[in-house]
Amino acid sequence: MHLIVIIAFAALLWFNSGAPMNKLGLSPGVSVVIVFGEIVLLAAAAMWTSHRTLKTLAKDPSDPDDAQHEHHYYGMILQLVMAGVFVANLILTDWPGVVRGLFGKGPTFGLVDLLVLSPFIITMIVIWIVQYPVDRAIREVALNPRLSQGHSVHPVWSLRQYLSFNVRYQLLTIAVPMTLIIVGDDIIDHYRRPLREATGGLVWASDALMGILVCAVFLVAPVMLRFIWDTEPLPAGELRSNLERIARKTKVKYREILLWHSRGMVVNAAVMGIIPPVRYVLISDGLLESLNDKHIEAVFGHEAGHINSWHIPFFIVFATLTMLIAGGLVEVLRWVARHFAFAWLSFDYIQIIVGLAVVGIWGVAFGWLSYYFEHQADMAGADSITPGPEQCSKPCLMHSEGGPVGSRVLCATAADEFAMALKRVAALNGIPVDEKGWRHPSIRDRVKLLSDMSQDPSAGQRFMALIQTVKGVLIVGTLIGLATGAWLYWDFLLPASWFG
Ligand SMILES: [Zn+2]
Ligand SMILES: [Zn+2]
Repeated sequence: MHLIVIIAFAALLWFNSGAPMNKLGLSPGVSVVIVFGEIVLLAAAAMWTSHRTLKTLAKDPSDPDDAQHEHHYYGMILQLVMAGVFVANLILTDWPGVVRGLFGKGPTFGLVDLLVLSPFIITMIVIWIVQYPVDRAIREVALNPRLSQGHSVHPVWSLRQYLSFNVRYQLLTIAVPMTLIIVGDDIIDHYRRPLREATGGLVWASDALMGILVCAVFLVAPVMLRFIWDTEPLPAGELRSNLERIARKTKVKYREILLWHSRGMVVNAAVMGIIPPVRYVLISDGLLESLNDKHIEAVFGHEAGHINSWHIPFFIVFATLTMLIAGGLVEVLRWVARHFAFAWLSFDYIQIIVGLAVVGIWGVAFGWLSYYFEHQADMAGADSITPGPEQCSKPCLMHSEGGPVGSRVLCATAADEFAMALKRVAALNGIPVDEKGWRHPSIRDRVKLLSDMSQDPSAGQRFMALIQTVKGVLIVGTLIGLATGAWLYWDFLLPASWFG
């Protein structure tokens, strides 16, 4: 879901900056009818899929797996269609023109962009409302075995609670930081000329300011999320001291360990923030209630692994490299258009082509990178719960006589325990073990790699070599990109007026 919201905002920044494209040459009236007609159509599609999933669930209410699969699958398709439709509106219709026509010239502080985006947001909320009965039905079925085992459970959420959670977590998580960026972009764009004059002709003054804004928003985003989500510092107690001990052991620094209230609906943990003063480790109430302390420590160790392996900074390197590639691609296509006199290859089309390429890079390469990082964090998680030799109860290469075999081998007991924690978290979240996400490998694959690493001394080494190569390629690629950019734009970098 977050990806879809990111795509929508990115498309807004990318396609809604110049004059309205309206590639189909539609009239304002037709454009408005199309945009609002799409909301109705998507709502109808969601009703149909919900109906089908409820029927699947009714077939065998004791086994919600099929219905759950279907619910996820349809949800994903609906989201992709929703994003595609929104991007199509930006490019093909006069919808952006209609909205802009409502305002005069001058900065609107992002208001035009947000209004252009509004049909997307309305559709998303309508689809949530339509899907609520399915979500509720599946959760109720999933609760039964827990109730019969005598676990205390939260009642399944009401429509209001469900909507509030989705709006906060799925939408505002991305929308609040992105809105700040869009508003900033609007203001900076309006003062492009004065900025250039004030800096003695610096062409990239406004871009630099934009870069600073994006970095600043990114840095303080965890503080925003802390309040957008319903959180409080994890109360003192045995668990907290255990987690603090692991953090000290793994040298992880953070601002606070937060308990995230989700009425037990989320069984998850996360770390957010690049630098310790604004870095939070989040543990959801669902995780706290349904996992034993050992498993919570395993999950915490996994999050600590993300921090210690510098995963967030590497995601930023990845984003920078993608931007450089996009910029390079724009230059190449402009050159091709000029050189071969391709009149049809206008700047609009170049933007569309490069936009698609960027979506492809993020969709595929960012997913891969995240897969590797998840596996690496899993290794750290298993490491964090590695017992002493006496407590290791399995045939284990690490605790075998004569010391560990291989430099990157996992304890078999710890790998097994961590796999159990993973499976439990997945089951509680209603995620099938073989379901892959954009950013998460399937539980089956994660468990398999851990088990390989505990049984084959070379598996861990091979994996670490792969990770190091990927990280190296990212850094070298980014440096080459930056150097090429500086070389291409050398003449523009410093204005002549600076040298009298
Ligand atoms: Zn992770
Ligand atoms: Zn062991």
